[in-house]
Amino acid sequence: MKSIIDIDEIKSTILNQARDTISKEMFDIECPHCNRAVSVPAGKSNCPFCNEEIDLTLDFEF
Ligand SMILES: [Zn+2]
Repeated sequence: MKSIIDIDEIKSTILNQARDTISKEMFDIECPHCNRAVSVPAGKSNCPFCNEEIDLTLDFEF
């Protein structure tokens, strides 16, 4: 009997969901340019106050 559970597919589904969750999450940080409290997503975005680019890189420690 052939197994109906595809481990690789499950793994990639979980990874995709995790990536989705992380990319939609907003992070409360201090703008490195104007030092105001801002909420930005991971990656590149612009500060709503000074309009400077904020490049938020997430360092995950596993
Ligand atoms: Zn700023």
